[in-house]
Amino acid sequence: MKSLKAQHSELSYSENQLRLLNGVEGHTGKFTPFSERLKETGLFPLRPSGIQIFQMNLGKMCNQVCKHCHVDAGPDRKEIMTQETMLQCLEALDGTDVPIVDLTGGAPELNPNFRWFVESLSDLGKHIIDRCNLTIILANKKYHGLPDFFAMHKIEVVASLPYYSKRRTDGQRGNGVFEKSIQALKMLNEAGYGKEGTGLKLNLVFNPSGAFLPPDQKELEKDFKKELKLHFGIEFNNLLVITNLPISRFLDYLIASENYDEYMEKLVNAYNPAAAMNVMCRDTISIGWDGFLYDCDFNQMLDLKVENQVPQHIQDFDLAALNNRNIILNQHCYGCTAGSGSSCGGATT
Ligand code: SF4
Ligand code: SF4
Repeated sequence: MKSLKAQHSELSYSENQLRLLNGVEGHTGKFTPFSERLKETGLFPLRPSGIQIFQMNLGKMCNQVCKHCHVDAGPDRKEIMTQETMLQCLEALDGTDVPIVDLTGGAPELNPNFRWFVESLSDLGKHIIDRCNLTIILANKKYHGLPDFFAMHKIEVVASLPYYSKRRTDGQRGNGVFEKSIQALKMLNEAGYGKEGTGLKLNLVFNPSGAFLPPDQKELEKDFKKELKLHFGIEFNNLLVITNLPISRFLDYLIASENYDEYMEKLVNAYNPAAAMNVMCRDTISIGWDGFLYDCDFNQMLDLKVENQVPQHIQDFDLAALNNRNIILNQHCYGCTAGSGSSCGGATT
């Protein structure tokens, strides 16, 4: 399977995705603008509550090509953050008290400067999160030592595992992914991750395999814990449940399977004002592989940069201006506010 970009798909262009989301393509329905719903909740224009998380996309290159990937990542993607941009990020961070740096991709570990960058962040005293797809740990000998490297820097590992069964995991992420993921989880456990008293946090991420909302986070966590312990002896801390947002490869899937309207209706009807209060863009800033700034990872993939009244590139980073901006919204935002809410940290209510 290739990325949408390598297939020259119409949906690899963010403007086409936005046209679809706004219902002007003819074959998709038009839904109440998200901003109208926020107005009813008294939250429009949406404003930051203070930046706590610096989320960085280290590149779109990935060793997997998952069906629902909102980044459209894969081995054929060459976009990668340079060391120069990383230095600009370090400089920006050094002048702030933003406590958390969240590394994502693609597979962030594929960035050739990954280890150097983590060490530099560690020296700054930041809490580091690595969004790990697990199989990268086994992809090549040079990555086998990642669990010990993570442990050395007390990195919080957030690992995606669509389900505790082979069929559902391989269906979403590709053949053989489940077995490799289990092996990688065992290696993380051996390094102390997910074990009581080590302080080494291992969280797993679940996202639905089709056009439906995720189930209750706490209930599903119980099932994951029971099944993974029973069958594989694996332990972890928390399960984060994430709603699929209608962008990129998941949007492509929704259109191809003729589920788009029904799925959007589900999201719109499940709008939850309490979840709207807690959307992650209020305390996160997202940095693209090329140093541009976005309100969140999803806006990044739709090429919706932070509003142009504030500097839009990390080299001109201005925390005060960013804390004072209006957040850019569109119809995909319904995904963050449906049901129990969704963010990179799981449910929000
Ligand atoms: S979902 Fe994650 S692991 Fe899968 S292709 Fe996208 S970035 Fe890679
Ligand atoms: S999609 Fe991004 S901008 Fe929209 S509500 Fe979610 S986090 Fe905020």
